[in-house]
Amino acid sequence: MDLHTTDDAVTRRIKAMADRISSIKDPGLYFYNQPVQEILPGMKVRVNGREMGMYASYSYLGLVNHPRINEAAKKAVDKFGTGTNGVRTLAGTLTIHNELEETIANFKHSESALTYSSGYATNLTVVSTMMGRGDYVFSDKLNHASIVDGCLMSGAEFRRFRHNDMEHLEGLLKNAPSDVAKMVIADSVFSMDGDIIDLPKMVEICKKYKAWLMIDEAHSVGVLGKTGTGIEEHFDLYDAIDIKMGTLSKTIPSVGGYVAGKKELIEYLRHASRAYIFSAALPPAQAAAANEAFKVILDEPERIEKLNLNTKQFIGGLKSMGFDTMLTETAIVPVLCGEDEKAFIMTRDAQLNDVFVLPVVSPAVPEGLARLRATVTAGHDPSEIERAMDVIGEAGKKLGII
Ligand SMILES: *Cc1c(COP(=O)(O)O)cnc(C)c1O
Repeated sequence: MDLHTTDDAVTRRIKAMADRISSIKDPGLYFYNQPVQEILPGMKVRVNGREMGMYASYSYLGLVNHPRINEAAKKAVDKFGTGTNGVRTLAGTLTIHNELEETIANFKHSESALTYSSGYATNLTVVSTMMGRGDYVFSDKLNHASIVDGCLMSGAEFRRFRHNDMEHLEGLLKNAPSDVAKMVIADSVFSMDGDIIDLPKMVEICKKYKAWLMIDEAHSVGVLGKTGTGIEEHFDLYDAIDIKMGTLSKTIPSVGGYVAGKKELIEYLRHASRAYIFSAALPPAQAAAANEAFKVILDEPERIEKLNLNTKQFIGGLKSMGFDTMLTETAIVPVLCGEDEKAFIMTRDAQLNDVFVLPVVSPAVPEGLARLRATVTAGHDPSEIERAMDVIGEAGKKLGII
């Protein structure tokens, strides 16, 4: 296909994207997809030869490059090699896969668990396997894209409730037929705003309307709860979530996704979900790394304490300078800028001063709510956090944001 002579809808879409990218690149405001050359101690990275403080990491407990986890991965390569013999059901299941699933089930206080090769695939396949035509699925408006895609793919009636608005959720459930299967889904910690779902109320409503409850813990494992096991520990509310989903790519420095829950449910997904049956198993090194990481979290609780202190310092500092950090209570800290362009300029000023932070703009967030989406981790040093806040503060003053 010659893009210069055709003019169908696809060609126009490709061209519109190219135009938008150039409009950001031409004035020197494009900072996405930068290659990191080296991971350095103290949450620093080398980018374009410069050492920068890392404020765009999901490694909330600073576990990337942890010696115990690296060692476990290396041992697994020596034992099993780098790939598997195929899909799990036929020839791909290794003992390390079963060990990992047992570790996850224990960590999440569940009977059983199942892993997939990405968190994205996990949401897509779990929602679309469990729900189908005629069923009803209820999703928070700020849920992650992988949940939205899973809902759409399922073919179920798709209802979205206002963000964290339990009255709206209840209203929608009340309006649905009483004799159909229902599922309510939400992020535990919202990935762009950093706020926490009102789980106690949600559990109550789900019980009342007999709806399955699914929670995505991508940003709460290692972050919420005194020992870092997630949202149930945070609210002291165990046995309340039917489908506990999480990723192995954030606090857990590996790749993959999981669901934990009742034995029968997990057995069902093991034999019915297409991302399990038709996609290859996690590589041995990644399964072993994930398995070890869950154990490190429990063995090194001081990391959670440090994360909480750093989070308090970062949110408190930015707020006292006058920034709007929205409703965050966690390590995801939105620094509201307004128009997309302001967020891009803030990013440039921060990056020029060796603070690696990135903007989120529309359509990922509503127009006019563009922001720096900064993250803080247990690996940061308080003096470094102070420096990063000074840099962000200077940039904010120059632009009139504060
Ligand atoms: C990152 C993320 C995912 C996807 O996980 P991957 O392992 O990166 O595919 C799913 N849900 C939420 C809320 C996320 O933030």
